[in-house]
Amino acid sequence: MPCNCEDDNGFSEHQNGCQLRINTNRTSTEGFNGYSKMYENSDTLVEEVDHSSVRYPDGTVRLRNPNIELMDQDILYHLALGSGSHDLVEMFGDVKFVCMGGTPKRMEQFAYTIMAEIGHKLPCGTTLQDISQFSYRYSMYKVGPVLSISHGMGIPSVGILLHEVIKLMYHAKVRDPVFFRIGTCGGIGYEGGTVIISEEAVDGALKNALELTVLGKTIQRPAKLDRRLVRELKGLADPEDPYDTITGKTMCTYDFYEGQGRLDGAFCDFTESDKMEYLEGIHKAGVVNIEMESLAFAALTHHAGIKAAVICVTLLDRLKGDQVLAPKEVLDEWQQRPTKLVCRFIKRYLQMKGRLSLEGHGSIAVKSPRRFKLVQQESENYD
Ligand code: URA
Repeated sequence: MPCNCEDDNGFSEHQNGCQLRINTNRTSTEGFNGYSKMYENSDTLVEEVDHSSVRYPDGTVRLRNPNIELMDQDILYHLALGSGSHDLVEMFGDVKFVCMGGTPKRMEQFAYTIMAEIGHKLPCGTTLQDISQFSYRYSMYKVGPVLSISHGMGIPSVGILLHEVIKLMYHAKVRDPVFFRIGTCGGIGYEGGTVIISEEAVDGALKNALELTVLGKTIQRPAKLDRRLVRELKGLADPEDPYDTITGKTMCTYDFYEGQGRLDGAFCDFTESDKMEYLEGIHKAGVVNIEMESLAFAALTHHAGIKAAVICVTLLDRLKGDQVLAPKEVLDEWQQRPTKLVCRFIKRYLQMKGRLSLEGHGSIAVKSPRRFKLVQQESENYD
């Protein structure tokens, strides 16, 4: 029976052995306010997105939750922000790109890197501040139109963050935001240092959807990524880059050890040959890398109608081993690689919009390095 459901961007077939049919009885709903259609696949509901209903005509994000606009204030608890306490339009209304990665340190570094790349200058005497420092959960830095946010490790962590960041986009009236995840992964047949742009995300059983249990029922959200964004990013790979940049299917697991077929966790109930059979099997099915966040990242951004891409660097080839053995300096350099690609994308966008400011004002401007040094030394002497 042919698949009935609408694949709004023609991206991928349903991978759940899809015999999806519009459910006209039990659950089929036009969702809240006609936002979404649901399809039933045995005992699982698969949600699809009607893109015209996740945007207002001016491009601002429309939430698929009618409760939020009825609330007196919305506290974004894990970001230490709120719609009643903060002027979110004033603070975030100019955001265009939301870049996420695992650790606070890496995302602070990303913020400084993008600041230099786009020529964003801070007023004299100021520094970047972690906007979410009082949440003690995630870190968030803002550099002009770019937000840099740490998402922690794994699907639950990135999922909670995405709920709040998508709501932040709505409260701040951000227009057509683009989300990036920059991270690390294990390559499947690709050596350490390879940059991989995900075409789609699949779970450990190769299903192209995030499964959630909501009110005791299993629902599936298709884990789709923007195909055009993938092509544009791939087009920004420089032939001079001393590493490969490739695209392919990303497997996302709930665990680093058993979930990724590692033999070196605290527990292991399979043999090396079971492991190799699995990894070679997923490789044949088009999987090029494994990590732990892309499924939620792809599914929730797609559900919100937000363009998104996942760009990771491989830390090792999982067909050759399990342990991450590269020295720290090498790993640090590798982790710059996805950042470079995203910086190129953002720079090109701002250039096209005539918004790349390489002549800012406000930061310390040095006229004569020799005199600058002397003045600094003089000042230090007055301690
Ligand atoms: N991140 C993962 O999830 N797996 C790896 O093998 C490396 C980084």
